[in-house]
Amino acid sequence: MSRNNPSEKSPASGAPAGSGEGKDTAQGFHNPVAGFGVTFKAMFKKRLTEQYPEQKKVTAPRFHGRHQLNRHPDGLEKCVGCELCAWACPADAIYVEGADNTDEERYSPGERYGRVYQINYARCILCGLCIEACPTRALTMTNEFELADSSRENLIYTKEQLLAGLEEGMVDSPHAIFPGMDEQDYYRGLVTEAAPGTEPQVAHSKGEAVQEAESTFGPEEPASKKVVGR
Ligand code: SF4
Ligand code: SF4
Repeated sequence: MSRNNPSEKSPASGAPAGSGEGKDTAQGFHNPVAGFGVTFKAMFKKRLTEQYPEQKKVTAPRFHGRHQLNRHPDGLEKCVGCELCAWACPADAIYVEGADNTDEERYSPGERYGRVYQINYARCILCGLCIEACPTRALTMTNEFELADSSRENLIYTKEQLLAGLEEGMVDSPHAIFPGMDEQDYYRGLVTEAAPGTEPQVAHSKGEAVQEAESTFGPEEPASKKVVGR
């Protein structure tokens, strides 16, 4: 192709060679102006800035936030320490140790309870598979999403942190089962509050079984994390 013959076409555009010079100049002017046009249009759009944390956004009702270990209406715990949630977890974020209830120290209506329960929020992806696996609806998720922390140690939530607070009519566990009721009656909804005169039992194991986190979540976790068993 000759450099000076305008009848020849440019291989890229198909236009006669040399005719794109004016077009290039126009485009060179248009492009920056078009960029400002985007800015100009955005000035009149609704602002998307959220004033967090001063104004917290209300989440969807079924938002997957921090977990909660639920109680029966009399205050006994729903968790039976079966570990199904831990097995269902794809991120290996849950650690459970079950133990037997006794008449002197009863945490749940049945045979077993969750003595140690931990969720590692440095691993959890809040997928909700664990709550689907739980057979007793002991584990559910709340709308709380402020889980950030500067320490991995603080991101391991213990049973004490996850256990639901006491509502009206509840007595803190451990305490005796409702007189005349069995475990099935609790799930049938026949127990609606603690029996009159229910007193908390002495928690012999509470605060005694202290473990290092590296024995539960592996050596990569900080060894200083203390987990207080119940
Ligand atoms: S929400 Fe998902 S990742 Fe988090 S503990 Fe449950 S199963 Fe594991
Ligand atoms: S939270 Fe549910 S699934 Fe997990 S150990 Fe307790 S009862 Fe079992």
